[in-house]
Amino acid sequence: MVEVISFFGLGYVGLTTAACFASRGFRVIGFDNDYNKFKAISSGVAPFFEPGLDEILKISLEKGNLKVTMDPNTAVLNSKVTFITVATPSKEDGSIDLSYIKEASKMIGNSLKLKDEWHLVAVKSTVVPTTSEAVVKKIVEETSGKKCGRDFGLCVNPEFLREGNAVEDTLNPDRIIIGEFDEKSGDFLERIYREFYGQKIPPIIRTTPVNAELIKYANNAFLATKVSFINMIANLCQKLPGADVEVVARGIGLDKRIGPLFLKAGAGWGGSCWSKDLKALLSFGLKIGVELPLIEATLKINDSQPYKVVELAKMALGSLRGKRVSILGLAFKPNTDDMRNAVSIKIVEKLLSEGAKVTVYDPKAIENAKSIFFERVEYAKNIEDCLRNSECAVIVTEWDEFKKLKPEYFVKLMRDPVIVDARRIFCPMEFQDKVKFVAIGLSNNFERIQKT
Ligand code: NAD
Repeated sequence: MVEVISFFGLGYVGLTTAACFASRGFRVIGFDNDYNKFKAISSGVAPFFEPGLDEILKISLEKGNLKVTMDPNTAVLNSKVTFITVATPSKEDGSIDLSYIKEASKMIGNSLKLKDEWHLVAVKSTVVPTTSEAVVKKIVEETSGKKCGRDFGLCVNPEFLREGNAVEDTLNPDRIIIGEFDEKSGDFLERIYREFYGQKIPPIIRTTPVNAELIKYANNAFLATKVSFINMIANLCQKLPGADVEVVARGIGLDKRIGPLFLKAGAGWGGSCWSKDLKALLSFGLKIGVELPLIEATLKINDSQPYKVVELAKMALGSLRGKRVSILGLAFKPNTDDMRNAVSIKIVEKLLSEGAKVTVYDPKAIENAKSIFFERVEYAKNIEDCLRNSECAVIVTEWDEFKKLKPEYFVKLMRDPVIVDARRIFCPMEFQDKVKFVAIGLSNNFERIQKT
């Protein structure tokens, strides 16, 4: 029996998961308290860019499998399970801001007060260990007047999808983590996933709520640490004649104990999750008297990495004052328009503060960029517009359309071009002979540049 499921929060996680469930025949009710999002989603348009999402959203709405509402009671009273997918941002001090979680829990509790049947609440948002027990369970019990484990069930069900690949990740996850407060809740959630995935069910780990909460943080912390590690090695390579981090990464990545993924040196990571999650974990650790020095180092390396990119531009160009610099890529990663915490922001701000004239281009993120940089940069409609008459091009996001560019193209459009490859998308051998080429993790060839 396919149950009706509801989502509280229709952002990257909530909308993608809701649309995927609906596309597989589940009846889904999505609730979001943001009117603009509600309006866009109801008309079949996702409020953000995610490959494949608009298509499944439209089909699900047309088939009537997905309904969108601004009324929390409609969502809870007409479904059997509610996934909490609201944001969990950082507070000023880095600790987790649980205000949306509290608000959603209150709304769910108030709706449950009106309901006679058992209902499952599943926390998909990323929350620090003990939050589900101390905050969600407590608030839902208080507002509903009901008892967790008897009148309603509760699970922690963290999400691991990657923006830019969210639909694919939702349809083919590596595993499902279920942190259950009682067996009935765990059984119920497992059954829903078994119905959703059928034969293609990934491994399921059923565990305590606190383990489930921690798995999500440990996962992000490990991936972030791997990237910061290779960025640290990249910085070493830059000072070493003959060194190239790409070759070093390939060499260590072939060790089965290390593996090749997340060993790409670059300008640092951005996005809404890693920094806020690592800061939240750090802050949580301190709260319970545990220092997490590896997390501190991982964050520290990442904070300074975007400035390494500007240093490269400066070394190749001399002073940046009055120089025309083109930024190729603004989104925090390819295949998304998301600019939350994107490294492009730090790079552009630093270039502007050094007096450069900046033109930016991104295939999807220009509209979001306008509300960050306003009139302080020029917005190009395509790569050609962005590069014309510029003196320096910086590759900040590794979109596929940039990977195809040849050195001759830069030479044709730019003035004595300097190329800063902050994402290592170009072959140094191909570029170095034709343009002034510098890259993260590539031994500095400034002497050669200076001579030419
Ligand atoms: P988001 O900001 O894109 O979406 C959150 C949505 O919740 C917004 O649309 C907002 O209007 C809505 N909302 C806020 N309060 C609400 C309420 N009381 N009731 C109903 N809706 C409400 O956030 P996101 O990126 O989807 O992240 C959601 C959670 O999932 C976070 O905890 C995040 O850390 C985690 N997560 C995110 C990703 C990712 O790639 N974005 C991946 C895995 C996990």
